[in-house]
Amino acid sequence: MMKEIYKDIYQVEIPLLNNPLKAINSYFIIGEEECLVVDTGFNAPECRKALFDALDELDIPLENVKLFVTHLHSDHSGLAAELNKSGVEIFTGKIDGEMINEMTKESYWEDFQKRAVMMDLVKDGIDFGHHPGYKYCPKTEIQFHGLEEGDEIKIGKYNFKVIDIPGHTPGHIALYEPDYKLLISGDHILDPITPNIAFWGFEWNILDVYFKSLEKVKSMDIDIVLPSHRKIITNHKKRIEELRGHHEERLEEIEVIISEDWVSIRDVASRMIWSLSVKKWTDFPDPQKWFASAEAMSHLEYLYLSGRADRHENGDTLEYRKCK
Ligand SMILES: [Zn+2]
Repeated sequence: MMKEIYKDIYQVEIPLLNNPLKAINSYFIIGEEECLVVDTGFNAPECRKALFDALDELDIPLENVKLFVTHLHSDHSGLAAELNKSGVEIFTGKIDGEMINEMTKESYWEDFQKRAVMMDLVKDGIDFGHHPGYKYCPKTEIQFHGLEEGDEIKIGKYNFKVIDIPGHTPGHIALYEPDYKLLISGDHILDPITPNIAFWGFEWNILDVYFKSLEKVKSMDIDIVLPSHRKIITNHKKRIEELRGHHEERLEEIEVIISEDWVSIRDVASRMIWSLSVKKWTDFPDPQKWFASAEAMSHLEYLYLSGRADRHENGDTLEYRKCK
């Protein structure tokens, strides 16, 4: 499905089969000769078809396409390597661009398996083979222009500025057009769903990083937000307050779960309330167990780093307990 959602900007809905996100909104920004495509969908046949059908419908030859990737997730970057091989130039954030290339290596995912132990997910017999990040990511490295805050991308009537908004991923970026008060925001703020804030490594207090990016975007002059999933957002300040409130509630919910005793990350996640069609943890599909545990961990680390929880190691598994 494709529609012109804003002047010379087409929203192309790319299906994400068997995924609770259902679809990704890709944006095609039309210039005089060129077309800037924002995000691609998974490295999967149905996504490839939707993307190429939309290019056909708009009569855009591949040699006129440039690709902007908001962040590393495979539903945004999946087809980047294939497009790159066909000569498409790629623009993405420095950190996420490098991570996309790391994720093409089996060794990255073997390391990832250690996280299953750290999070206690071995209890559920999970391995990385079920992770959509692994299944649908680019399989060969990309050549990319690594963008930073303040870099500019001109396309047609638009003069976009690159905005750093880490949190959902460590190197998430967005495109801001100050004259049109327009933000192409990736997964930074979504409505009505909430972006997954996952653990990415001990070098980031990622929930705190996300909160800072929310504050940054809240202070910006924006009339319309074009997000990568679900609804367009016209009151970004209100939505950001709701998202901030959601995470504060999550932190409180987790504090209750760890108030009595040491609890592993997987056990915290399994006791939290999730808005999924299945309610019992044992019925969660494996990828949802990963996402839920990684989300629980970003919150547990936030509590730990702000002195609200203690952390210890039980073998190779981490456990947390509310500070007495
Ligand atoms: Zn994402």
